[in-house]
Amino acid sequence: MLSDWKVPLSDTDVGAEEAEAAARIIDSRWLTMGPETEQFEIAFASLHGAAYAIAVSSCTAALHLAYAALGIGPGDEVIMPAMTFVATANAAVVCGATPVFADIISEDEPTVDPDQVESLITPRTRAIAVVHYAGYACRMNEIRALAERHQLPVVEDCAHAPLVRHGDRYLGTVGAIGCFSFFSNKNMTTGEGGMVVTRDDELASRIRLLRSHGMTTGTWARHNERPADYDVLEAGWNYRIDEIRSAIGLVQLRKLAGANAARAGLTAQYRRRLEQAHGAAVAFTDYSGDSAHHILPLVAADALVRKGIVDRLAEAGVQTSHHYPPIHLFKLYRERFGCRQGQLPVTESFATREITLPLYSTMKTADLDYVATVIEDAVQNAAGKPSRMGRAS
Ligand SMILES: *Cc1c(COP(=O)(O)O)cnc(C)c1O
Repeated sequence: MLSDWKVPLSDTDVGAEEAEAAARIIDSRWLTMGPETEQFEIAFASLHGAAYAIAVSSCTAALHLAYAALGIGPGDEVIMPAMTFVATANAAVVCGATPVFADIISEDEPTVDPDQVESLITPRTRAIAVVHYAGYACRMNEIRALAERHQLPVVEDCAHAPLVRHGDRYLGTVGAIGCFSFFSNKNMTTGEGGMVVTRDDELASRIRLLRSHGMTTGTWARHNERPADYDVLEAGWNYRIDEIRSAIGLVQLRKLAGANAARAGLTAQYRRRLEQAHGAAVAFTDYSGDSAHHILPLVAADALVRKGIVDRLAEAGVQTSHHYPPIHLFKLYRERFGCRQGQLPVTESFATREITLPLYSTMKTADLDYVATVIEDAVQNAAGKPSRMGRAS
């Protein structure tokens, strides 16, 4: 039992297969990065049609390596949305760069607005970072076109979007570098973990180098009687994954398409159930492309309606979340980068209205029905109508 919630926000789908994979690695007695990680990288790359995949310890590490490999440093600007997890921006900040925040398109399509991005380009701009919020693709055709016009690399934060088709590619391979997360609540998990994909061989080798201290050979290569000595070419980090997590990742990767399809089915049910709910709507109503359906963002009419729904769900034992408190309003970003309230009106409006509902691949239809009924009840109460569940507000 993970929690006391009647319906939790998310859940993992790990079991006997993952346990068996982890046990097999322990039996082999080689735990740090080696052949299993290589298999994981090959499988991830081939599934996503990527030339190179480099497994790392987290998506935060992946983002840091991406920015570092692109040579982003002090004085450089990276344009990105503020409607994302703080890692997208922090990873640029630790490189010494300045994050420049672009607003989102709308409350219904809370991904970065390409026109905003283009208007923020200066001679200091060194990269554009995009986030496929909730698993739905950004307007990548427009982003790619403007990036080409201005000769800027695009980093795709794909933490929400593994195995999402976009035209004849998969997200993560549309820009220069794609960064994925295998954190516990993501569509596939290794506990903690991440992946960098790229088609550029120079970027790939730089990322590999920086993943492991800038050293010219790894432990596995040395173990296998290749040169026991190594040189150090750059100051890197230890951002390696390990064999146990790679083995778990290979199992999770085989489940990914099915898990994404399950999330898609559940999202469609949520949409049908909540279609008539006045005062709240599931985001991405007009979206027509592929999605990983990572989270279920419900957008309430205003902050008050939001509070009514959140409180009623909590009373009913339903866990919710908030994706996201916008980055530009965090103390660090206000004080160091002069960000301020009012800077990103659509992002701020969305943030005061968004509620993330329970969604995970193993979620039961009955639980979804329960959540939807509580929401219908809450919005009816907010509208001053008698409660269907017979509760006074
Ligand atoms: C989860 C997440 C990250 C960070 O991933 P970790 O693997 O936990 O470091 C980055 N960006 C987004 C959008 C995320 O959701």
